[in-house]
Formats: sequence, structure tokens, C-alpha cells
Amino acid sequence: MMNVLLVNVEHQWSCSRISLKPSLFKHILQPIANLCISEEQQEYIDFESFFTHTICHECCHGIGPHTIYLPSGQKSTVRLELQELHSAMEEAKADIVGLWALRFLINQELLPRILLRSMYVSFLAGCFRSVRFGLEEAHGKGQALQFNWLYEKEAFILHTDGTFSVDFEKVEAAVEDLSREILTIQARGDKGAAKSLLQKYAQMTQPLSSALLKLESFQVRALYQDQSRLMFLNTN
Ligand SMILES: [Zn+2]
Repeated sequence: MMNVLLVNVEHQWSCSRISLKPSLFKHILQPIANLCISEEQQEYIDFESFFTHTICHECCHGIGPHTIYLPSGQKSTVRLELQELHSAMEEAKADIVGLWALRFLINQELLPRILLRSMYVSFLAGCFRSVRFGLEEAHGKGQALQFNWLYEKEAFILHTDGTFSVDFEKVEAAVEDLSREILTIQARGDKGAAKSLLQKYAQMTQPLSSALLKLESFQVRALYQDQSRLMFLNTN
């Protein structure tokens, strides 16, 4: 469907420039999915879903509360009210509302129905990709919030072999609930509620750390490949 393989999208928030290449999918997301996604849902991992959700993420930064009115009637902005918590909340919003929006567009028959399952499974694999860089950074924190929320609602399931899968019956409502939660906090400029939400969910939980442990071997291999390539270039 999409012939564009490289895209740069600029917006005014923290992820101001993205480069989406099939190689990123092939060499990073696909190996992560091979390790962390259950065998029966491996078929749902595809570049199309990864690409479409990332575009939707960028679009969703522009959707939702920005200029707000506080209960006192005073005009303000979400960024001003949430202060240092704004970036993580905004990244989580763009991700989860992006996922909700994909479902909406599929229901409107504006996107192919074939994306329906693959977008959730690709999103799950994408959680591990972001979180492995740590929870100090806004994207990682926002992603941990989403993963732990969806896991608590049993939309994501951990199997005894350490792989994960999506419960397609539960994921839709869980995505909508979290979208509503974040958008309401932003609309109210409620920093206290943002802090509680992040403290509860943007944490390194047991299922998340077990997935990251699995990925350590992949990281070491990727580093080794990079070094081998470097040595090859230096000697040729
Ligand atoms: Zn973003």
C-alpha cells in the first residue's frame, strides 16, 4: 500500500524528526518480536503496521487538549500545567490515541481490516523496543505506562515460555480506557493525577524486566555485529 519507505515528520514536541526505514524494522523490531512474541502471533508482525502506527503517533500529537481552561477559569496550556511530566504523558498519549485512531480508521473503512490484529501485536513488540533504552527518557516512560496498563487489564498476556501475546477481546477497551485517562488528565491540567498515573504504571515491573532480560542476548549480538562490521570496514 505504502511505497514511501523513508519519511520525515516534524512537529513541535519532543520527537521532532523520525526516520522510518524498513531496515529498522528488519534489524531491530523483527528480532525483538522473534524473541518476545508468542509463536502463534508471530505472523502479525509486519512493517506496514509499524509504519502506519508511527505516522498515526505523529498525527496524534496534534490531536487533543493543548490550550485549556483551569477550574478557576484561567487560561493555560497542558505543557505549562504538567511541567516536567508533560513529555512522558504526551508521548504516551500520541502512542495510545494513535492506536485507538487506527481502530477508528479501520472501522470507517479508511484503512484495511487486515491491519486490525497486526497493529496490536506490532505495538506490543514496539513497547520492548522503546523500554530497553530506559525509563528516564520520555518515550521509554510513556511506553512503560502503556505496557503496564494494558498488561494489568489482561490485554497483554505473559506465557510460561516468557513470550507475550495480545488478547484481541480485551485490548480494544483497554486502549480506549487509557486514552480517556490521559486525555482527561491533560484537559484538566491535573499534574497530581499525572504524577499518580506515572508513579503507578511507568515502572520497571516484573513482566517488563523479564522481557528485557530476554533481549539482552539480542543486544549483545547486535553490538557484536556492529563491531564486526566496523572491523571489516577498518581492514578493507
Ligand atoms: Zn512523539
